Amino acid sequence: MATIFGHALSAVTLSFVAGKKTRDWLFVRTMIYLSIAPDLDVFGLLIGIPYESFWGHRGFTHSIFFGVLLGTTVSFLINIKRKRRGSEFVLATFLLILATLSHSFFDGFTNGGHGIAFLAPFDNTRYFFPMRVLEVSPIGLWFFSARGLEVILSELVWIALPCLGGLCIYLCLQKFIGDKSKNDS
Ligand SMILES: [Zn+2]
Repeated sequence: MATIFGHALSAVTLSFVAGKKTRDWLFVRTMIYLSIAPDLDVFGLLIGIPYESFWGHRGFTHSIFFGVLLGTTVSFLINIKRKRRGSEFVLATFLLILATLSHSFFDGFTNGGHGIAFLAPFDNTRYFFPMRVLEVSPIGLWFFSARGLEVILSELVWIALPCLGGLCIYLCLQKFIGDKSKNDS
């Protein structure tokens, strides 16, 4: 896994795309929870579910199918509460799905553990991306070790910097489009 900080940071960054109206605290918090949710499968290890099995770590809960299912279900729950409809509902749903899928996306770049069952339940094969640049985060309490520093530094370079860069580009584009439509009207 990448760390919960790396996953949460990518979710917060994605939440900016929702716009001011949608991006309330409930929405941002939900994006963060969804970006971490696939790793609930680590508890299976404690009750003896084998890592490489369908329900094992990085198995079904890390699949695209699960991400779409969970993101859509949660979207209905929070968007009904907020009375979102039309394009606002569609965008919010899309982002909640992306937040869930971002978890497996980053796990696919880690350099340890087993691969990700992206295609479960149709195919339980575990995959990694060709570039495995993220230091894998060990399971357990490790933050204050030298290994912890290595993991955090790797996430700064491969998650935090791209998130920051992407966010800057997005906000600049939004400002540019906003200014242009103001001038045109
Ligand atoms: Zn994971």
